[in-house]
This record gives sequence, structure tokens and C-alpha cells, in this order.
Amino acid sequence: MKLFYDFHIHSCLSPCGDNDSTPNNIVNMALIKGLHVIALADHNTGKNCPAAMAVGKKNGLVVLPAMELTTSEDIHVLCLFEKYEDLEKLETYIQKTCLRIPNKPEIFGHQFIMDENDEIVGEEENLLIVSSGISVEEVAALVKGFGGIPVPAHIDKQSNGLVGVLGAFDYGLGFELIESTLDSGVKLPQITNSDAHYLWDIAEAEHFIEAESCSAHGVFAALREMCRKGE
Ligand SMILES: [Zn+2]
Ligand SMILES: [Zn+2]
Repeated sequence: MKLFYDFHIHSCLSPCGDNDSTPNNIVNMALIKGLHVIALADHNTGKNCPAAMAVGKKNGLVVLPAMELTTSEDIHVLCLFEKYEDLEKLETYIQKTCLRIPNKPEIFGHQFIMDENDEIVGEEENLLIVSSGISVEEVAALVKGFGGIPVPAHIDKQSNGLVGVLGAFDYGLGFELIESTLDSGVKLPQITNSDAHYLWDIAEAEHFIEAESCSAHGVFAALREMCRKGE
């Protein structure tokens, strides 16, 4: 079956994400847009995923747990998971390597953690848009080791994109899937996402994957199959 997706959406937990990008607002906007599956991918954290996944479950939208990891070279890598527990383990691991800089909400924006009723249940104190200690050489194997799929994010973008930072795509880094809005010329399967920081930027029903079922398991299996086949 054809499933329209957007696997890269930021919530109010990302300092640069709009405060209106709450779990319920994101899920509702995705449904209005006609999407079947989304992934919530905040910078260096997945702490709003449980709420978004619960809201998705209630409303018939598949929400994959994810994060947008910043490597030590400032390259953004989208890390997609099927199960939140696996993402949580990655987060615990990478947080130990991240620079600890207290967030200044008045400059960078709030970092709200919410429950499934969009109630604020916490605020992340350390700035999330910092480099981790994970290098681009080790990130793919690390994410795979935790059960995830590592995807170099927006590789067509000059800032924080793998090609922009390294100057060329290195096939030896172990990635099997890339994210780009253009035909990047990289000979790997590609997904195209919105990288929405505001509700209205969430993708229209334009890009789809073929999956066996409309479930986290079905979507993840389809992504794994894309990686395996290389197309
Ligand atoms: Zn990014
Ligand atoms: Zn992003």
C-alpha cells in the first residue's frame, strides 16, 4: 500500500521549533495534509515522541520515534526508529557526549516536553542544538547498533548537510538511505521530508513509500527493504 509520509518534523522541544508545534497540533496537521505516517525528529532528543505516538495512535496516524542527531562535525543525521525504547537508549548514550550549555529560552527558544494532552511536563535545560561527541565516521554503525536507520539529513543544504560539510558524499560511511529535496546525484535510495519547524511547513501528501501495512512495523520494514535493495 501507498503511504504518504513526512519523516522529519520538529516539535516545541527543539529550541528552533515553534511553540505551537505540540504533539496534538502536529498530528492533526499531518492528518489534514493527508499523510499516513510521520516521524518526530527533534535535535538530539526524542522526549516528545511518546506523546506524539500516543496522539497518533488515538487518531489513526503512524508516528515513528526519531531524532536529528548532530555529529561532532555539525552534520545532521536523521535517526529513524520503530520502537521508542531503542531511541531512548541512543539518546542516553549520545547525551553523555553532548556539550552542556544551558539554554537561554529568550535567545534560542523554549524546549518544552509535553504529554499527550499538550500539557507541559518539563523543559529541557541544556541547549539541544549542540554538537554531540559522535563523529560522522561512527554515527551510522552506532545508530544501526541501537536498531535505528541513520539518514544523512538535508544533504542538499550547505549548512549541516553531509555533502556541504564534507565536500562530497562518502559511501564508506555506512549510510544506506539519504534525505534530500533534490536529485542529489548520490546513488542511494532517497526520502524527501519537510524538516518542518512550523506547523504549516509539514509536507503535503506528495511523497510516499510502499509498505505492507500502515503500522510502525510495516513502515520500518519498508524503509529497511529500501536500504537493503539500494533503490
Ligand atoms: Zn537539520
Ligand atoms: Zn531538522
